[in-house]
Amino acid sequence: MACLHGPRLLNLEKTPPHLQFNDLILTGYRPISTFQGCIRSLFYLHNEFGNIYTHGNVLYHTFMNHEGGEPIYDTLLSLDMVGVCLVNTLGCLPIIYITLMCYPGTCILALLSYSLISAWGILCATTARSNYGRLRAFIWQALFRVLLFLFRWLGDGVGSPASLRLFFTMDMLAIMGGLVNLSRVPERFSPGLFDYWCNSHQIMHVLVICSIIYMHWGMLEDLAWIKTFQCPVLE
Ligand SMILES: [Zn+2]
Repeated sequence: MACLHGPRLLNLEKTPPHLQFNDLILTGYRPISTFQGCIRSLFYLHNEFGNIYTHGNVLYHTFMNHEGGEPIYDTLLSLDMVGVCLVNTLGCLPIIYITLMCYPGTCILALLSYSLISAWGILCATTARSNYGRLRAFIWQALFRVLLFLFRWLGDGVGSPASLRLFFTMDMLAIMGGLVNLSRVPERFSPGLFDYWCNSHQIMHVLVICSIIYMHWGMLEDLAWIKTFQCPVLE
């Protein structure tokens, strides 16, 4: 993939302030580039290279050094956050529906509540000024899912017996990803050593991808299970 000779890369102190968001990544910054320059950076090694190729939404990492400067950067970051929120929201709505399908009134209320919480989360995530603020934006969605899984585990909610473990793993991986990104491990222990590979943001990307795979597996289990299930008729 890294087959072109790129421009001379910059050290942290030479890169514009809005791109100095991780002061433990010391080298490998792309210079400010045109649209074509950003596209070209898909093919040479720099410190966002690994982030681009481990991400579902590549726009933010590919174009963050665009010559449009901070306004373009802020817009791309917001788009990135909207993408994360949409996965969080749309991925969970079927889980809510299946868990509460035998309580239609509660089910509709829960779907509406989760959608409202998600809208609030998108607003918080796109206006937050720090990684901590962005992680905090997802807390209410996570707590809602904990309650939902508890309801299923206690036997009041329904769903495939195999899927709960998969959904739990899904959330654990996503939380671990958020915490790794926030704590900036491993570059915290050796600033500069992880500039190109295996830094916290790349590890978070990989954990989030694994989390989405577990969501997919859990949903496949539930969809197979739902074909043979009928809610008990109340006398
Ligand atoms: Zn990212």
